[in-house]
Amino acid sequence: MSERFQGIDWYCDRCNAYLNDQQGFDDHHYVWKCTECGHKNSISSDDIYGSEEDFRNPNTIV
Ligand SMILES: [Zn+2]
Repeated sequence: MSERFQGIDWYCDRCNAYLNDQQGFDDHHYVWKCTECGHKNSISSDDIYGSEEDFRNPNTIV
């Protein structure tokens, strides 16, 4: 089984933990509960940002 989103690094929206390395992580989940803080992160194409800055400043026109 391959990744739904190849090469995408997922980070927790709350604590910024690296989700790809968390035990049992699989990007076929639609929601991933961070093992660090318990935040439920949605895993979808809408949640992919070009950079950390895009995520922090979603209204910035690049
Ligand atoms: Zn977290």
